[in-house]
Amino acid sequence: MPHLLKVYGPRLFAWFVISLVGSVLLARNELAQLREAFETDARISHRLLSQRVVQQEAVLATLVLLQPPAPPGGAESAEQRLSSVYPQILSVQRRDAGAAWPDPSLDEAEKLSRQTRAAVLANPDFRSARGRYQLVLAAQPASYALLIDIHGTIPWSDWSMPVQTSPVRVTLEHAGQAFVVQAGRITAQGWRFAFRKHLDSQSQPFDVVALRQVGWQELPWLAMALWTFAVAAVLAAWSAWQRQRSARRRAEALLRVGQVARLNTLGELAAGMAHELNQPLTAILANTQAAKRLLQDDPGELPTALQAMDQAVAQARRATEVLGRLRRTVEQAAPAATGQTVDLAQAVRSALDLLEPECQRRGVVTSVHIEQPARVLAERVALEQIVHNLITNALQALDSVPASERQLAIHIGAAHGMGVLRVVDTGPGITPDTLPHVFEPFFTTREGGLGLGLSLCETLASGMGGQLRAQANVPRGAIFVLTLPLANRP
Ligand code: ADP
Repeated sequence: MPHLLKVYGPRLFAWFVISLVGSVLLARNELAQLREAFETDARISHRLLSQRVVQQEAVLATLVLLQPPAPPGGAESAEQRLSSVYPQILSVQRRDAGAAWPDPSLDEAEKLSRQTRAAVLANPDFRSARGRYQLVLAAQPASYALLIDIHGTIPWSDWSMPVQTSPVRVTLEHAGQAFVVQAGRITAQGWRFAFRKHLDSQSQPFDVVALRQVGWQELPWLAMALWTFAVAAVLAAWSAWQRQRSARRRAEALLRVGQVARLNTLGELAAGMAHELNQPLTAILANTQAAKRLLQDDPGELPTALQAMDQAVAQARRATEVLGRLRRTVEQAAPAATGQTVDLAQAVRSALDLLEPECQRRGVVTSVHIEQPARVLAERVALEQIVHNLITNALQALDSVPASERQLAIHIGAAHGMGVLRVVDTGPGITPDTLPHVFEPFFTTREGGLGLGLSLCETLASGMGGQLRAQANVPRGAIFVLTLPLANRP
């Protein structure tokens, strides 16, 4: 689990952050668009309503100017016919000089109108379902008052929003009273956009108030979900590509280290040697046995026996040559110290990187402890090969203990002018009688083992002026200690 978290944690975090940032931007963009649409609608409503109230002012002013005479015989007066042209004008009242208003409350408004020489609002009633108010303009000889229906004032045919379904609430407000033009949909949660502006009219100073509540359900969830999926898909593709790339790098590095190739060569060499040695050894055996028999004969066949012995000697020489050739080949395989400065920790990191899939597969817990940083004089490839071999051996040893007990620790330090690298495992360890043999060529206790890994490592280590030792770990397991000269010896 912690391993999974280590591998996938950063990717999950990146996915979460990118998805979140993208979704927030999408939501912000959506909110900005909704706000823009809302403000456009609110401004249109304000303009339309302003035009209507100004029109009412103009009608009143025209009436006052024309002072149409009252028709005889109670016929419908010109001003009464106004309602058919302007349906919002419910009725027109007129007070001739010396007469009184039918409604005394208009006296006050007329007085004010006379002072300001402008139309004045009277008896506003916004609360009733339709809402109404009066507009009074004082003049000589007659003053006029219009009774206006607010609902009729709204220019429904030009209205920019669908009144029944629009989420925007529009009200006309005046002195604490509000007439609801459009109910809208106002909820408790989400974002709220608001618009408030005076109508462009002196006589009817109403506020147009628009409110828009955007609920959570109005966020662009589909786009946000698509974005989240797209990010996940891109990240998955990216990490697949990364995995492929590191697998390829690993394979390349393995080739570079030459581990596989070299061991294969040595394995083939060993098989060839066995084959080549088999022949002279069989010949030596046959010749010495023949010589023995000839010498035992009575009388002994001395010349023939000598001949057989000569042949045995020649075959033994051949065997020595074969072995000499093997030694020379192995020595050639060990590179001469080239005196590069190599960081032990770096070598460990690249070996561990190569073997990471192996460690994972086996469930081995690995840890690196840098007690003291150590830069050593070594041949990089050879050093990496040694570390690689030691870790591989440890992993193989750990196979024989239960998965929960598989631990591999690598310690890096320095002592007496040497860099020290210890590979410590909790495997079955090395028994005291096998311990002296582990560095011998072809010594192996592993089924299918060649027994060449450690001997090659030892040759490589001593070729670089270092040493490789094995010891027992306490309470269990093995420790391999590699020492190499420090690059900056004190
Ligand atoms: P191979 O791995 O082919 O057997 P090596 O030379 O690498 O050859 O190892 C020789 C022997 O040393 C192994 O067969 C094993 O018995 C012993 N050995 C090496 N490393 C370990 C270890 N970490 N724990 C226990 N035994 C080990």
